[in-house]
Amino acid sequence: MQQLGDERVLFAFARDLEPALTVASGETVRIRTQDCFGNQVQTPEDQLDEIDWDAINPATGPVYVEGAVPGGALKVKIESIELDAQTASCTGKDEGVCGDRFDAWSTHLCAVEDGKLVWNEKLSIPLNPMIGVIGVAPEGEPVNCGTPGSHGGNMDNTAITAGATLYFPVAVEGALFGCGDMHAAMGDGEISVSGAEVAGWATVTLTALPDLRLTDPLIENDTHFGVIASAETLDAAADRAVHEMVDLLHDRTGTPEDELVMLLSLVADVQVCQMVDPEKTVRFMVPKYVLDALGFAL
Ligand code: CA
Ligand code: ZN
Repeated sequence: MQQLGDERVLFAFARDLEPALTVASGETVRIRTQDCFGNQVQTPEDQLDEIDWDAINPATGPVYVEGAVPGGALKVKIESIELDAQTASCTGKDEGVCGDRFDAWSTHLCAVEDGKLVWNEKLSIPLNPMIGVIGVAPEGEPVNCGTPGSHGGNMDNTAITAGATLYFPVAVEGALFGCGDMHAAMGDGEISVSGAEVAGWATVTLTALPDLRLTDPLIENDTHFGVIASAETLDAAADRAVHEMVDLLHDRTGTPEDELVMLLSLVADVQVCQMVDPEKTVRFMVPKYVLDALGFAL
């Protein structure tokens, strides 16, 4: 298996980046990722107003995937997520939902121990290892790694875990895949502006799907299939995700739109990914047993 270290990072997904690695379609690669602070918060003394803000939100890559073409898609199966032993969380002035309450940055370090995240001596939290930033080169201008969009990026989606498969619309030859910003745990919304930020290793299988046309990223796991959409507000993001799912199911199954909408209203969930980044992100998740009954296939 090819391995990619975290020496080559990108701070914006862009069309013109030089590939850090080239893989064949269907190849699995193990990728080392820095945390969202560029690994600059290691002790309680490391203050966020003293770090190099040009070095935050690094994604490792880009990886050129042979056979990925503009107008097609890239399938990304997340095989595993390996976390380092310490995480850092933060909040601060005008950051996150409660940024109106603070005048300065705060940070909190946690240990990853025995499959749990140790908040303090009284409280340990279950791990939910996930990848915050993951995507491909966008169609137009570069998009910094703090911002999500149709190319993926900083979606901060708790469903992007080991075992999940993502599908991204491809805008350039080779797709130019990158990922970073792992979290050991995060709640939907990411209200403080951070998860339990952690460096680690992501093992992913990258497959070019030249004939699949997409508008926004899709996500699939054992039980659900969803559209991930980002927009200026949560309302607009939800609206977009739901409309795209209706379009997708209508196109693929021929089910009338009014029937689909009534059915999805009973079984499908609008879920918040994050509400703290420059664009907000929502996923609309449909149970697979429903898709099976409709005869849906990508
Ligand atoms: Ca993030
Ligand atoms: Zn993060």
